[in-house]
Amino acid sequence: MYSITKEFGRLQKSGDFGNYVTEIDQLLETLSKARATIDSAPQSRRELLAIVKNSCSNLVEKTGNIQKDIHGSLSKYSKALDKKFKIDVETAYNRSAFPDSSKILLDRAIAMHLIREGQFSVADSLIQDSSLDIAEAIELEFIDMYRILAALRGRDLRPAIAWAASKRDQLTALGSNLEFSLHSLQFIHYFTMTTDEVTGLPVNGQQMALQYAKENFAPFGERYLGNISKLMCAFLFKSNLEKSPYVDLFLAPTAWDDVARSFTKEFCSLLGLSSESPLYLAAAAGAIALPTLLKVGTIMREKQTEWTSENELPVEIPLPENMFQFHAIFVCPVSKEQTTDENPPMMMPCGHIVAKESLARMSKGNPNQRFKCPYCPNESIPNQAIRVYF
Ligand SMILES: [Zn+2]
Repeated sequence: MYSITKEFGRLQKSGDFGNYVTEIDQLLETLSKARATIDSAPQSRRELLAIVKNSCSNLVEKTGNIQKDIHGSLSKYSKALDKKFKIDVETAYNRSAFPDSSKILLDRAIAMHLIREGQFSVADSLIQDSSLDIAEAIELEFIDMYRILAALRGRDLRPAIAWAASKRDQLTALGSNLEFSLHSLQFIHYFTMTTDEVTGLPVNGQQMALQYAKENFAPFGERYLGNISKLMCAFLFKSNLEKSPYVDLFLAPTAWDDVARSFTKEFCSLLGLSSESPLYLAAAAGAIALPTLLKVGTIMREKQTEWTSENELPVEIPLPENMFQFHAIFVCPVSKEQTTDENPPMMMPCGHIVAKESLARMSKGNPNQRFKCPYCPNESIPNQAIRVYF
């Protein structure tokens, strides 16, 4: 790896155009001055042109050398890369995966990724150059999201709270706790504050927290009574919070990151988007799958066989669940089929769960027919089974 970083360092050094650009600007200035002088005093033409010609050829020679340097460093860098990464990625490359017509989809995915990453000017150039049809409104939404996230990073919860309050109905419908979590963090932030963030003067943080609770917690009283009681009880331990049962809640080192993450997630989900960029997820899954796919590709080439099943890989590629598991799924232990809305999971009184169709099969289609659970000795009738939601 050392050789790669070394060559990259050299490339970075020789790729610095700073001085070169200044010199070209200077030459351009000299040229336009010379033209103005020649226009006003044509007799000086010969002498002036000789000087200008000299400066030009000097700079041309210099830029030639710079270019040579860059090419040299670039080829050394790519050689270092080739030496380290000997694998030929071509074996795992499926040419039919991206037909010409999908180029626009790829461009779109990249542009959306850039917008989601907050790289707005690069995204704008791409959208313009590829004539992509991406609504400006989406970009404006993400600009707003980054404004709120920047405030959160600066420990200012107000923009996030204002946003959550304006979307209260939609967030509640999603079952989100975001608005209360933000208020709760603001309370904790005040509670643990000893000096004013701007003036540096000492403040009574706990008094501020109490005042904040009085002004803001009322709308959440019913739904979050337990959480609010917990916050209030912390006053009993205000002098030794570190050793109290509230230490995890009040002094959690990841509290701000957690709230920022859940804000991003809810923000995206109200826009109908996933919380992670699909392009990022696809590239990450690809990077995990690549070594296996390369191996498969090599074996298939050596044995001269081809995998022909469409939309299916010849090997299983396990992806980490925390990142790539998007839905809870349930597979019926009787039929081995994944349950769906039409064929949902049903729990029998004994607690065992099977798919609705399996239930019907076991009771021969009669909702009042007694049958034995396939997993325990208990008997029940289909009408006693209840639908389970994951
Ligand atoms: Zn059972």
